[in-house]
Amino acid sequence: MSSSAAVFTELQLHNDPDNVYVQVISAILDAGEHLKLPRRLELILAQPKNELMMHFPVLMDDGSFKVFKGYRVQHNNVLGPYKGGIRFHPNVHLDDIKALSALMTMKSALVQLPFGGAKGGVQVDPRDLSEQELMRLTRRFTSALGSNIGPDYDIPAPDMGSNAQVMAWVADTYMNLHSPNERLNGSGVVTGKPLAFGGSQGRDKATGQGLVYVLEEMLPSMGFAFEKMRFSLIGFGNVGSWTARLLCERGATLSAVLDHTGAVLNAKGIDAAALTQHVAQTGGVAGYGDADAVSEDDFYELEVDAFIPAALEQMVDVRRAAQLNCKLVVEGANAPLTPEAERMLIAQGVHILPAVLCNAGGVTVSYFEWKQNRQAETWDLKSVDSQLKTLMVAAARRVVEFSRTHNVDMRTAAYGAGLEHIPNVYSIRGIFP
Ligand code: NAD
Repeated sequence: MSSSAAVFTELQLHNDPDNVYVQVISAILDAGEHLKLPRRLELILAQPKNELMMHFPVLMDDGSFKVFKGYRVQHNNVLGPYKGGIRFHPNVHLDDIKALSALMTMKSALVQLPFGGAKGGVQVDPRDLSEQELMRLTRRFTSALGSNIGPDYDIPAPDMGSNAQVMAWVADTYMNLHSPNERLNGSGVVTGKPLAFGGSQGRDKATGQGLVYVLEEMLPSMGFAFEKMRFSLIGFGNVGSWTARLLCERGATLSAVLDHTGAVLNAKGIDAAALTQHVAQTGGVAGYGDADAVSEDDFYELEVDAFIPAALEQMVDVRRAAQLNCKLVVEGANAPLTPEAERMLIAQGVHILPAVLCNAGGVTVSYFEWKQNRQAETWDLKSVDSQLKTLMVAAARRVVEFSRTHNVDMRTAAYGAGLEHIPNVYSIRGIFP
């Protein structure tokens, strides 16, 4: 019996191979086998420490009330305060949030940040709400979270469907609900805030920027060069659009994009900056003038060097993987491939660079923001970028080294290199009491 199967049996967890939480924890525990993790640590990591579920009413503009469901899952805090985004999306479910919280633990550990892992979300399509409704929902969710978040305890950030303005509402609500004493560093309760309210230079582009630093480090030894690289993207939000703009600035060609409104393709190259403007004005890539509208099948079948999913989890299953025609998958989104799809692509010789490394730039600059807030400092963009680069390159090297030493794929190596950091802390601290 594999280590993960034995752990699921002991914890009486249903070992459903299609469940994203089972997939993520199995992959982490499989990586742990290379480190011979003690069973008690496997059991601790296989379950989040805390799972909060809240139902709360929000006043709508027409005078009616709607009740929403929100979650905050705190996976592990052995390395420092819980850290992870808040997602607003209609498909938010407990197991997705649990999976994303475990990935945050691994991400912080891999980059060696003094944070643990958490994730939260509300089951809502923010596009269906007016700005005032979104503000009331955010404030009410924050008040439902109460003291389960805090600058020294659990620090949310933006994720899919939320943004800097949402973080500002979370921080303002938190500060209003706490004593003047706690308010002093209250804005540090979240990262990804607007610059004028304690945000950091470079946070907006940080996830895309970190991904590009990882590629700068890893592409040459894999035989790729930015100037000759054609890539396609799923998702043109924060992660997708910044990744596209930064890669295009380095000479790569954006061939096609798929988002929730449709797919567009231009083999000669899409101007990422112009597409960003179009999306800001219209809400999606559909209708972009300088590219052809194509079907999802045409999008997936397009021949490119790199395919970059930067939208939802598990979008690439076996059917979609069979359509792909790429040499490299660079994960901007968390868990965008099902394990079967990943195995199929690896068997075909496709390189896969995992999210836990590629999209760690967001939490890294969040750490810089938190640090600036605590020290009452403001760093310039050059300093943020250069420190981000140092940490991303070091993390990428740790992954490559683990992969060589243990002869494993990059995802196993990324989890393994993160896990290496954790058992020591447990053995030094011991288990309370
Ligand atoms: P976002 O809300 O800014 O953008 C999401 C994008 O996904 C949009 O372009 C949307 O059209 C697209 N999308 C949604 N549903 C889709 C569908 N069914 N088909 C195709 N496209 C669809 O979100 P984001 O912040 O860019 O996050 C994207 C991913 O990156 C998520 O997995 C998130 O967890 C991860 N991530 C984000 C950050 C960050 O700093 N924002 C950091 C690390 C990881």
